[in-house]
Amino acid sequence: MSVPFTTLPLRPELLQGIAQIGYETMTPIQEKGLPLMLEGQDVIGQAKTGSGKTAAFGLALLNAIDPELRKTQALVLCPTRELADQVAMALRQLAQRMSNTRILTLCGGRPYRDQLAALEHGNHIVVGTPGRIGKHVQKRSLRLRDLSVLVLDEADRMMDMGFIDQVMDILYHAPIDRQTLLFSATFPPEIEVLSTSIQRRPQT
Ligand code: ADP
Ligand code: MG
Repeated sequence: MSVPFTTLPLRPELLQGIAQIGYETMTPIQEKGLPLMLEGQDVIGQAKTGSGKTAAFGLALLNAIDPELRKTQALVLCPTRELADQVAMALRQLAQRMSNTRILTLCGGRPYRDQLAALEHGNHIVVGTPGRIGKHVQKRSLRLRDLSVLVLDEADRMMDMGFIDQVMDILYHAPIDRQTLLFSATFPPEIEVLSTSIQRRPQT
């Protein structure tokens, strides 16, 4: 245990960002999950609250994007606006040394027009709630054809809140050969069903 982040095949800018935040060694979910995620595998990450799941999927998706390509390459779905804001903030901190990485938050209860304008500027990563993201996908203001990583954060809460149909609609517009990462504090049977329908040979 107590494995440093520097053992991971991460881009130097991300290792610098991690050092800047002050993280030294990985939490257990990061230590077990990051090597698999960095290989491009689909992963189910189950760990209790406060175990460092955000940095686990955050580092994987930030390492996977091509900053030169200003298209949505990673999408993080969260159950609430508050969580989406927290995740976006954590990603921005991790990406602080990756210049020109644009991270956009799309949630309900915020002006739609402002979101359209932000989407027109282009971005690399979108974080938000399934309802509003689904609306942008339906209206083609958010295109997912360049998506390489899709994350469901707090998947159990999203299922509890009845977001399954919106999540499936969004996934329908995403490329089949994407990487799908599913994070959850609990693992009830409906999460297993969800995983089977959206992931390929996931590692738990
Ligand atoms: P979870 O999503 O599993 O509930 P978070 O990702 O929100 O947990 O992380 C909980 C806290 O742990 C955050 O304050 C985060 O900054 C901190 N943290 C994450 N990874 C590390 C690490 N490797 N070393 C020290 N602190 C960490
Ligand atoms: Mg979390």
